[in-house]
Amino acid sequence: MSLGNIYSLLENHFYYGVFEYPRNSGNWYHGKHEPLITKELFDEVQLQIKGNALKTREEREFAFTKIMTCGLCGSGISAYEKYKKLKGGGINVHVYYGCTKARDKHCPCGYMNETDLIKNLQKLIDNVDLNETSIKKKVEAEVVRYKKFHRSLLGESSSMAVTDIDVKDYVKFLLKEETLEEKRDVMGCFKSVILLKNNQIFLKKVEE
Ligand SMILES: [Zn+2]
Repeated sequence: MSLGNIYSLLENHFYYGVFEYPRNSGNWYHGKHEPLITKELFDEVQLQIKGNALKTREEREFAFTKIMTCGLCGSGISAYEKYKKLKGGGINVHVYYGCTKARDKHCPCGYMNETDLIKNLQKLIDNVDLNETSIKKKVEAEVVRYKKFHRSLLGESSSMAVTDIDVKDYVKFLLKEETLEEKRDVMGCFKSVILLKNNQIFLKKVEE
């Protein structure tokens, strides 16, 4: 089943006993069939799908929590979502990272939203010596593949050499555009933890 199928299944009123006929007519009927779920469950699911602001979703995974530490008190970092209703009717989700305050109840570490976090990481990566990371090998093959593809499109005879700038650009791209697994993966190669301290981040090497 595709993700789209699952969504239309979850949004189908038929399962709690009613249906609309003809479609989009506004004429609703109670079916003679036995409902599979309750209306309450259906409504709850719709709220989840729309990202209701009042619900905390503990199940939600965040890309960077596991590789972040509070730079002030040494506690872990947790993340939460903040919903913002848009004028047009949509909902914007912002992810914020902050100290769990497990070690210091009053830790004044502050928060950082994920968009800023990624922007700052991208800046920090410019100052990392790639030779000290395993990232180079991992990414080089990808970059060569991309260059080949690019060359075949443009018919250019560009060189195949991969520079550190190429590798860093690719890492920055992964951090911005890719899935949370890719983000974690790529940050794992830096063998560093991300320290959050007074609304700023730093990369700190982890001893092997
Ligand atoms: Zn702290």
